[in-house]
Amino acid sequence: MKLLLHTCCGPCMTAFNEYFVEKEIEYSAFFYNPNIHPYKEYLKRRDTLSSYANKIGVALIIGESFMQDKWERDFNQLNGYDRCSNCYGIRLSETAKTAAAIGFTHFTSTLLVSPYQKHELIKQICLKEADKFGIEFFYEDFRTLFRKGQDIARQNDLYRQKYCGCFYSLDESKFKDKIDWD
Ligand code: SF4
Repeated sequence: MKLLLHTCCGPCMTAFNEYFVEKEIEYSAFFYNPNIHPYKEYLKRRDTLSSYANKIGVALIIGESFMQDKWERDFNQLNGYDRCSNCYGIRLSETAKTAAAIGFTHFTSTLLVSPYQKHELIKQICLKEADKFGIEFFYEDFRTLFRKGQDIARQNDLYRQKYCGCFYSLDESKFKDKIDWD
């Protein structure tokens, strides 16, 4: 198996890394998250992941893309579920396409570790994209690894974000006032 891991951020990658090392699965990480707004936050999550991948010796492909204008223009009439569905679609389609183009046999996503994400929807979209690009989707219910991942992130002093990513989720965040933008 040659696996490409769509990676939303450093903290979510930690548990996957332990899991893959234990199972002796070789993988590369792929950062493609145009949903992270504002740009300052995008850079913070990208750079946190980049340093962590470098530290643990995992190859990281960065697909630079920042799409706040698309979220403002195309998503503002959508309800939360449809907005997330489109958001997952954009990121996971690009992952499956990239994986197939570079010669990976499988892909999966760190989004599957979070109990706060729409797990079944992510799974459904991954299966559809796998089919579309002729590649396998590697699935497990990785939510069981969530707490462990958070602990590893804390031990490594990784930046842990306080909202999902888009400016809509920033507005809704209970921790909005605690965000340090520096
Ligand atoms: S809440 Fe998260 S998954 Fe949903 S649209 Fe915003 S960034 Fe994407």
